[in-house]
Parts: sequence; C-alpha cells; structure tokens
Amino acid sequence: MPTLVMKFGGTSVANLDRIARAAKRVAYEVAKGYDVIVIVSAMSGKTNEMVGWVNETSPLYDAREYDAVVSSGENVTAGLMALRLQEMDIPARSWQGWQVPVKTTSAHSSARIKEIPTDNISAKFGEGMRVAIVAGFQGVSSEGRITTLGRGGSDTTAVAFAAAFGAERCDIYTDVDGIYTTDPRITSKARKLDKISFEEMLELASLGAKVLQTRSVELAMRFKVKLRVLSSFEEPSDTAGTLVCDEEEIMESKAVAGVAYSRDEAKMTLISVADRPGIAAAIFGPLAEAGVNVDMIVQNISEDGRTDMTFSCPVDQVLRAQSALQAAAANDSINYHELVTDEGVAKVSIVGIGMRSHAGVAAKMFATLRDEGVNIKVITTSEIKVSVLIDRKYMELAVQALHDAFDLDKT
Ligand code: ASP
Ligand code: MG
Repeated sequence: MPTLVMKFGGTSVANLDRIARAAKRVAYEVAKGYDVIVIVSAMSGKTNEMVGWVNETSPLYDAREYDAVVSSGENVTAGLMALRLQEMDIPARSWQGWQVPVKTTSAHSSARIKEIPTDNISAKFGEGMRVAIVAGFQGVSSEGRITTLGRGGSDTTAVAFAAAFGAERCDIYTDVDGIYTTDPRITSKARKLDKISFEEMLELASLGAKVLQTRSVELAMRFKVKLRVLSSFEEPSDTAGTLVCDEEEIMESKAVAGVAYSRDEAKMTLISVADRPGIAAAIFGPLAEAGVNVDMIVQNISEDGRTDMTFSCPVDQVLRAQSALQAAAANDSINYHELVTDEGVAKVSIVGIGMRSHAGVAAKMFATLRDEGVNIKVITTSEIKVSVLIDRKYMELAVQALHDAFDLDKT
C-alpha cells in the first residue's frame, strides 16, 4: 500500500477536540487506502513552557537534560492520537523517537537525523496496523540519550520519514492554509500559491516565513519529497494548500513568486579597517565563534589601503557582535577606526526562480522603492533573490509596493 506522511503542528493538536479533528483527517486518508505515518508536535505552547522551566531551573543547563525535558510534549500527543484513532476502530500505535529508532547526531538541542530504520514500523504495517504515530522533534544519539532537532523540528522529522519510507507525499498540517505571496497581515492582497519550488520555499523559509523549518525544506529538496502545506481547520480536499515541489512541476513561473521580510535586523559597519589578505577572516571568524548569524556582507572599495566593512545580523545579536569585535581589536587581530551600529533596519526580499530568465527584476525593485521614497542601505543578490536593507519604519510600505509592482495578487 502507498504510504502517506501527515504532520500535525502544535495548533492542530492544541487540545482534545483538535486531536479528534486531526484524527478524522487521518481516517480520511486511511479510507483511501494509505498506510499513514503521523508525525505530531507538542500541543501549542507546551514546548515554550518547558523551555521556560529548564531556563528557570538552570540557566546554563546541561543540554542533555534540556532535551530530556522538552522532547516530552510530543510523547503526550503521540499517545493521545493513537488512543483517539483506536477509539475510531483504526489500528494505530505510537512510537517515541528512540523506539523507531530515529538515530541522530549527539548535538543536543540541534541534532541532525542520521538514519531512520524502517523495519519496526513496516513490520507493524504488515500485521495490519494502519497508522503509526511518531513523536516529532526527537531522536536518540549513539550514546543512547534523547536528542531534539531544534525548534520547529517536527517538520524535519516528517520529511525524513517521508524520505525513509518512500512516501507518496508529506502533508504538513498547520494553522495557515498554505504558502502566500507575502504575509497576509501586511497586505490583504497576499495570495495563496498553488505550487512553489523547493528553492523558492527555502529562500522564503530562511527569510522569515516561519511556516516550515528550513532544515525540512533542505531535506525535502535533497530527497525530492513532495510537501503539501495545508490547514487542519478546513474540510478535507485533495487540492487544498500549497504544494512545495520540484521546479519542473511548475509550468510557468513568474519572475517573482513572493516578497519576504525580516523585521528585526541590525546593520553594523567597521569603519576603516586595513585592506589586506585575511581581514575578512579576522572579522567574521570571531563573529561566527560568538554565534552571530551574519547575513549580508558588503566591503567597500578601498582607499589608501583602508576599507569599510558592513554586515547585517539579527538585532538581538548586536551586543554579542560588538563584544566579539572589541575583543578582536583588543588582541590586535583587527583594527578599525569606529564601529557604527544601526539597530533600526529591516530586510525585504523578492524571491523567484523566474528571475533566472527574466531581465530587469532588480532594477524594477529599486525603481519601486525609489518611487516610494525608500532609501536602500545594503543590497545583496543571489540567482533567485534580491534583498535590501531599509529603515524598519518603511518595511510594510516596501512589501506592499513590491507586491503590487510584481503583480503578485494576480495569477
Ligand atoms: N514542539 C517543538 C517546538 O515547538 C517542535 C515542533 O513543534 O516542531 O519547537
Ligand atoms: Mg512549526
């Protein structure tokens, strides 16, 4: 029988009613003849609550015990989902990560899945079980300790199971009905996409469209797992949601598929650093070690052997970045005239695989921002993306104007 993976996020299993509703969705697919693997998140809010408990008990906690605690939310929903399905006379069984076992690295709180043996669960399907419910987000290290995959990790569990079992599709049930051209809270013209390519989704996911964990999209792209993102609050239908798939499956693609943003960015500039081999390594090495997620980087043309280096990072990492750079200056590995920080910027990006074949996309973006009187502070581009840093107060305006300029409200 074909296998289907269905993943239910926290809001879709937030209470017993919602679990019952999710179970009905599972029954709908079972009736179609699928063997179903259900991946569940913790009830919404539970993981946050447990993270809070851990921090309160031990601010510099042992990550092995953090994982022992925060993985437990998923165990509850897995068992409850199995019970609900059994009440509906559907043969169902729950699995915790270690029982499968979902083998991971030992990087506690951000482990990566290494292997998912299929024999245990397949044997049960062979005996007539119709639904395996697996606790998402968790696994087991080679030392035999419970691990977790990082926040939002159940998405990655789901895709990894779909790959391991050769599932026909991996349906991600969430509280939105699909992937939109931009955040509907910013413009009511945002339109749900029927399909989006893995590459575009990856850019949108890492740019702050928080529907899917970035890792899960990377994994889906690598193993060509078809993903469908849909709402568990709508009636079952075979065409609901957004399909995230290979770009070959998308017939015509517009130049731009979506506009993403990231609100809380900071721009930091090192004024007058020596322009010599190794200077970038001397700056960005210590930043990486300090755990600063540097995003955009711009190096100016140099004058008299000195140059300015600008980068962006999340605004809540500014202090960390400042202290790393001051430490590097103190031990003479770099020297600069001044470190200027602008904590009031946001990043706005246009994303689309169609950019590869359409000329003038960046120019149109810049003209649109000019017409709105928005000043661009930093620009970066990739093959399928153009990003700009602008003053945070213009972020909404920029997103709306770009959404209009690229006709994203029209199919
Ligand atoms: N419960 C975990 C979290 O909140 C994992 C997940 O839901 O994907 O991050
Ligand atoms: Mg999630």
